[in-house]
Amino acid sequence: MAKKTVDSRICAFCGRRGEDVKALIPSAAYQDVYICTDCLETIHSHFKAFLDEETPSDNGEKDVKKALQKLPRPKEIKEFLDQYVIGQDDAKKYLSVAVYNHYKRLAQEKTDDDVDIEKSNIILVGPTGTGKTLLAKTIARQLDVPFTIVDATVLTQAGYVGEDIESLLTRLLQAADYDVERAQRGIVFIDEIDKIARKGDNPSITRDVSGEGVQQGLLKLLEGSVVNVPPQGGRKHPEARMIPVDTKNILFICGGAFDGIEQKIAQRLNTHAVGFATDKSRQVDRENFLSHVAPQDLKSFGLIPEIIGRLPVLTHLDPLDRTALRNVLTEPKNAITRQYKKLFAMDGVELEFDDDALDFIVDKAIEFKLGARGLRSIVETIMVDAMFEVPSTKKKQFTVTKEYAERKLSEQGRHQ
Ligand code: ADP
Repeated sequence: MAKKTVDSRICAFCGRRGEDVKALIPSAAYQDVYICTDCLETIHSHFKAFLDEETPSDNGEKDVKKALQKLPRPKEIKEFLDQYVIGQDDAKKYLSVAVYNHYKRLAQEKTDDDVDIEKSNIILVGPTGTGKTLLAKTIARQLDVPFTIVDATVLTQAGYVGEDIESLLTRLLQAADYDVERAQRGIVFIDEIDKIARKGDNPSITRDVSGEGVQQGLLKLLEGSVVNVPPQGGRKHPEARMIPVDTKNILFICGGAFDGIEQKIAQRLNTHAVGFATDKSRQVDRENFLSHVAPQDLKSFGLIPEIIGRLPVLTHLDPLDRTALRNVLTEPKNAITRQYKKLFAMDGVELEFDDDALDFIVDKAIEFKLGARGLRSIVETIMVDAMFEVPSTKKKQFTVTKEYAERKLSEQGRHQ
């Protein structure tokens, strides 16, 4: 009796009766609908074949192609940088190539050959206020990856007063809204890397905790390792659960002024260039020497060889001359004068800067030896009264003349 009932069921797929198959599995949704185990096996093997077609390596290759298509080419990266950063062609070229290779490396990770493209962390050497941070920031913006800036001087070796080295990853996590995947492809700019140089070239002379210790601590981050990161940073929340972050694909860009490094470069060049050493009266031209900066100069300056090895892309920034400073004021997409024009436009006021007012601002920045960093504070000082008063007037137009700029600067009593 029972056997008859079983026999009467059929597989909805192949139509065979229950007695002709190993077993029938009933549908969860419909009454009297079954599938036989033979059909299940067939489906499974089809499914497997489909999955095999999408093997990780094939899939990886497709992903690589897709990712590479989306990746801006070095020339495009440079063109983007040109819109925001004046001059610094060498640094832009090195950065564009390094960043392109870095993301190519990420895209290629899934392929399975023996060629391992190494990380191309970057070190930028150049005077303060010449665009090191701006370059790093602009690249991150173009690539739409999380970005953070940390000052190497606040970092300390674990166990000492100051910020743990891991805290720089906390900041990156914050910049990525705690999306660990995104953070792991981000860019960290470590500013003032020169300030953690060890004092003196001989490692046995100084055991300086703040410098060499921090360099040692940075090593594992730069080369890539999984680091447990306190989500809030610092030791204030010891109870917080740590977040493991893999730094393998994080791009580190370090920047530093390396004051005095031109002497080291000059010394090195003197030992190699015949006839150069005798020319002692020759002035050390910072700009020219910096363009020759080499890894051994960083070592003479006090970076440990291991750190230098993990920052394989080394490039320099030029000091900004008068023309460059003048361009900084007006040319970049978010140039200082454009920003003020926008602020005034929001009050319906058209703001103009006379050419000789701009020249005057540049002269002052040079005189105060503030470089591009000074431009903003000088313009701010000149503009503060106008920004205070103009919104309450019916003015539709405001022009900053040289005379106005001079007067405001002297009235404010700063920048004297
Ligand atoms: P650094 O990191 O080299 O000390 P920054 O990149 O922080 O200098 O520059 C400070 C400010 O000066 C920037 O915000 C930017 O407005 C301006 N600036 C510096 N260099 C340039 C440049 N080459 N092109 C455009 N603006 C620049």
